[in-house]
Amino acid sequence: MNLSDSINSVSSINSIDLNTVGREMYKLISELYPICRSITGDGLRETLRHIQTYIPLSIHEIPTGTEVFDWTVPKEWNIRDAYIKNSKGEKIVDYKKSNLHLVNYSIPFHQKVSLNELKEHLFSLPEHPDWIPYRTSYYRENWGFCLTHHQWLELKDEEYEVCIDSSLEKGHLSYGEYYHQGRGLDEVLISSHACHPSLCNDNLSGVALTTFLAKHLTPLSLRYSYRFLFIPGTIGSIAWLCLNESKVPRIKHGLVVACVGDPSRLTYKRSRRGDAEIDKAVTHVLKHSDQDCEIMDFAPYGYDERQFCSPAFNLPVGSLTRTPHGRFPQYHTSADNLDLVHPEYLADSFATYLSVLDVLENNRKYLNQNPKCEPQLGKRGLYRAVGGSADDGTDELAMLWVLNLSDGKHTLLDISERSGLPFDLIRDGAKALFEHKLLKEC
Ligand SMILES: [Zn+2]
Repeated sequence: MNLSDSINSVSSINSIDLNTVGREMYKLISELYPICRSITGDGLRETLRHIQTYIPLSIHEIPTGTEVFDWTVPKEWNIRDAYIKNSKGEKIVDYKKSNLHLVNYSIPFHQKVSLNELKEHLFSLPEHPDWIPYRTSYYRENWGFCLTHHQWLELKDEEYEVCIDSSLEKGHLSYGEYYHQGRGLDEVLISSHACHPSLCNDNLSGVALTTFLAKHLTPLSLRYSYRFLFIPGTIGSIAWLCLNESKVPRIKHGLVVACVGDPSRLTYKRSRRGDAEIDKAVTHVLKHSDQDCEIMDFAPYGYDERQFCSPAFNLPVGSLTRTPHGRFPQYHTSADNLDLVHPEYLADSFATYLSVLDVLENNRKYLNQNPKCEPQLGKRGLYRAVGGSADDGTDELAMLWVLNLSDGKHTLLDISERSGLPFDLIRDGAKALFEHKLLKEC
């Protein structure tokens, strides 16, 4: 096996124009933003078809009623129009102005109702009176509207016409999957939820990052195979795990991608295992990023890591976000819009994901082929030509660490951690030593 092939296989990061990638990710978010998505239905399908213009995604359809572990694939929901009219016939709440106005999965309904009855089906945010909340009712048949608190305060005691032109019928649950075959069958899973309507950070940012990661890796020959999932939250990962159980043992590392476009620091939520290679790889990358970051322990709340880390699977899957689930005020409101996400933060998240994948791709164990004292690096052109200078020397230091700890027991990531040197320096040192036949892969 040629180490030069494996090393640097992902991390052509420096050759990537991150500004361009950030702008392209933002453009994809803008294209998908107007679509009313849900956990099933044509909005989700349209989203997946649009992603197909970027990567060769397969779209899978699971019929309504399919039993997936303790859950059942629900009826398919589609929406054409919804509004509330006052007694003068004026539309006071209009789905066509914002798809967040309708409680997602509202049943078909067309009736005149009193203010009191209407209020039982309304949601607003008094603490943010200009924002529309995002609410769903997937597993309990109901209807409702979300409105700004200003709109709510203007409601008069009169009769209202409520119209929800939706359908909730037998159909399918759609999800997107893209598999990039690597040199081996061991897999890295990258998963994002694609079921939210017009919301940007949660989670069109995750959809965009997953898409561009897949696009970036596609032309590369990689150690691992990569499986990218675009699924409706919760039911999508449950269905995928249930219907693909035979593939699960191949998953060696995984990340759930969400909330990667806001200006806050990066946050990593560890896998349930807590000390999996993915946990160590992300922690290492964040620690060496010179940016503030947060590392959190696993908790059984959040995104689809809940399912991937359920006890019978216990997969090494963490979640790398910026502000995590539920911790930004705009979360699940109309303020999670195109102003909250920025190309520069999308690009920064993208670069961080690539750095993590670079660690996974290149994290191997080697055996020092000259373990009795140090090999003479100078005669191999691996040592500074001029001795005695105090400057730099980190390249040599990295090589000395790799030689010293390459006893078949330490991975390159272990060596990075022990030496305090960033992984890419250790990786490059190992590459130089391998090319001079001073290392052999274990
Ligand atoms: Zn959400």
